[in-house]
Amino acid sequence: MLADLHSHTYFSDGYLSPDALIARAASNLVNILAITDHDTTEAFEHLENMPSTSTLTILQGVEISCMWDQREIHVVGLGIDRHELVLRTLLNDQQALRLRRAQAMDMSLQRAGVCGLMNYLGTLPCKAIGRNHVAQFLIDRGIARSKDHAFKNFLGDRGKFGAKAQWCSVETAVNAILSAGGIAILAHPNRYNVSNQKLRRLVEEFAVVGGEGLEVSYSNLDPDRVAHMAALCMDNDLWASTGSDFHSPINHWMDLGKFRLLPTLCATRAVWMHPRWPELARVGN
Ligand code: AMP
Ligand code: MN
Ligand code: MN
Ligand code: MN
Repeated sequence: MLADLHSHTYFSDGYLSPDALIARAASNLVNILAITDHDTTEAFEHLENMPSTSTLTILQGVEISCMWDQREIHVVGLGIDRHELVLRTLLNDQQALRLRRAQAMDMSLQRAGVCGLMNYLGTLPCKAIGRNHVAQFLIDRGIARSKDHAFKNFLGDRGKFGAKAQWCSVETAVNAILSAGGIAILAHPNRYNVSNQKLRRLVEEFAVVGGEGLEVSYSNLDPDRVAHMAALCMDNDLWASTGSDFHSPINHWMDLGKFRLLPTLCATRAVWMHPRWPELARVGN
């Protein structure tokens, strides 16, 4: 079973349309694809019917930015009903925070003599403005050499053009996902720059508020780290998820379906074996 349960379209900071994303997933032999844009479910408004075939099932998802211990944590919701009111309201609030953060970045850019960020953002299809978009603007203007350069030098917490947003709490995100009938998964746990001890505390607290799953295997995660995530997952009785976090075809190390399979340690705890999985996969338009 090749389940890519974390991917982005151009309605957040991905580069592909929903249809192009699905076509790429099919050609990469993915069996289950969850589209999980940052703080928006807009992609599903642009799919006529949920275009599941005998070999590829599409799952509605979202990736919500949260605050935990004063840092940014990402929680993925799988199998959500995007029309559900608590979730809708939260995503609208998060999108408003993203707009305000972009306006704050625009102000500091203007102070440095760089105009046009908001105009540039207005030309994009995205509903959830991200730092990736600002990074692209900095590259287009010749201010940054690459995405990495833009994040490291300009868009980080202490970056010259960086701005923080006060995202919702992990509990609020998990509650909204549960209200919408979905399963909450803690995304890419090794990307938060915290000690193993702190990561353990994060996972425990995530489970206490109703989080049910952990991403165990994803792009660029070496076998030792996958094994570590698998142990963390089993220790907390969570379901194990897999996903590429695909954004763009240009990024070769992050492609749809390209990650290590779940280790045998959590083979019986794969999230697609969750008792509610069949109903989640049926949530359509
Ligand atoms: P945001 O949602 O606006 O806070 O931005 C977070 C997103 O920026 C992540 O989902 C990644 O897509 C992207 N990102 C974060 N750090 C980097 C980096 N160093 N290089 C490229 N993209 C990054
Ligand atoms: Mn992103
Ligand atoms: Mn993320
Ligand atoms: Mn992501």
